[in-house]
Amino acid sequence: MDKQWSKVLEIIKDQVNSANFRTWFAQTNCTDVSGASLTISVPSTFIKDQLQTKLYPVLESAIQTVFGKKLNLSFKVDPSMIDKNHDDKFEFQFISTPSKPKLYGLNSRYTLENFVVGFSNNLAYAAAQAVIKNPGLSYNPLFIYGGTGVGKTHLMHGIGNTLASATLDLKIIYCSSEKFTNDFIESIQGRKTNEFRAKYRLCDLLLIDDIQFIAGRDSTQEEFFHTFNELQSKNSQIILTSDRPPNNIPKLESRLASRFQGGLMVDIQLPDFDTRVAILKAKCSDRGEEVSEDILTLIAENMPTNARELEGKLIQIIQNIKLKGLPFTKEVVVNFLDAPRTNSRKLDYKKVLSQINQYFNIRISDITGPRRKKGLVFPRHMAMHLLYYECKLPYGRIGEILGGRDHTTIMHGVEKINTGLNNDREIQKIMIELKQILQV
Ligand code: ADP
Ligand code: MG
Repeated sequence: MDKQWSKVLEIIKDQVNSANFRTWFAQTNCTDVSGASLTISVPSTFIKDQLQTKLYPVLESAIQTVFGKKLNLSFKVDPSMIDKNHDDKFEFQFISTPSKPKLYGLNSRYTLENFVVGFSNNLAYAAAQAVIKNPGLSYNPLFIYGGTGVGKTHLMHGIGNTLASATLDLKIIYCSSEKFTNDFIESIQGRKTNEFRAKYRLCDLLLIDDIQFIAGRDSTQEEFFHTFNELQSKNSQIILTSDRPPNNIPKLESRLASRFQGGLMVDIQLPDFDTRVAILKAKCSDRGEEVSEDILTLIAENMPTNARELEGKLIQIIQNIKLKGLPFTKEVVVNFLDAPRTNSRKLDYKKVLSQINQYFNIRISDITGPRRKKGLVFPRHMAMHLLYYECKLPYGRIGEILGGRDHTTIMHGVEKINTGLNNDREIQKIMIELKQILQV
């Protein structure tokens, strides 16, 4: 059987380039042939995935040639198969222990297990899962963008950590675009561009964080363009994060922008209320802290902001309470929040209306009046929402204030904004700005 398998490999060697052969085929073996089935042992799931999908036709036809018939192929992952003599002059590294990811710049604290999935990030999370299932083949590149502190870096490390622990010989590089830039510049100064290229162009998974900072740097962009092409042509997975979509990155070369858009672009938005509570819970359990649900709810309600700020506030509260020996109660916690909930109860509805009018540049009569013009309906709904949640007025009373509207109309308006807050970044932004103005 070994002889026949060597023949299969000989055939394949002629059909794929040597890097591909070394990575995907050199360490395979045929461990069983019975009837119409043939079992191939491979050292990692990553290789198994590749052979089962993209490289299946190559394998199938070579096997047919050697065995004289079409066989059903199955794959068995056998990690002990790693070939100690495997040619590693191309710097392929072997991950043999779970602590290895550190070598690649991955932070083991950021995993997919402790990444909370909610409405604001479920698309990005689904894309991450697809990439893990089929690195290099599902979405390449995966481009994750969104404002600061929403979890881009966390998700990226999560993908890296998952792939690193699921596979044995994956070469992963995680770095910021600044690190890439500095490495490149240093390599030029030290006349070591070959080493630089060997490092970045021969990895299986390249994770570059905050790629927007590469913009405007001509030689680095040029180099990255070639790195990108080389990796993509080998189906090595590329994942990039940015604070905005490629088209909106000023001074980004257009050929790079178009490359970045060639795979899948997903955004992560600010977390909605439920996700904020879940993130706070996750952070407590990460740190082994026990904080009651109603306190986490209180914090989440008062902080319609990103995960980083939520986490920062949580830590600040926990530390302060411990330091000062205070009881962990709502009454105490409220004092640490920038916008204490208790104040909002006293919020005067007239103040809310006048601020809304000022913000949207409309008149009181526009908001209380009957006109249904689009430009008026949204501010009116915002007013309903704020009067309900911040002034704590009942629907009926809000209806009276807003020109004699029915309470169901108010309910509907409040609901509309709630939906918007869950899935519309623009509405989230406006709400945050309005709340800042109102200091609630
Ligand atoms: P970004 O890269 O988008 O600026 P980070 O990934 O650095 O944001 O996230 C900031 C902090 O918030 C990190 O500590 C991260 O663990 C946490 N975080 C962000 N999103 C989530 C999430 N969905 N689940 C758990 N923690 C999160
Ligand atoms: Mg980041």
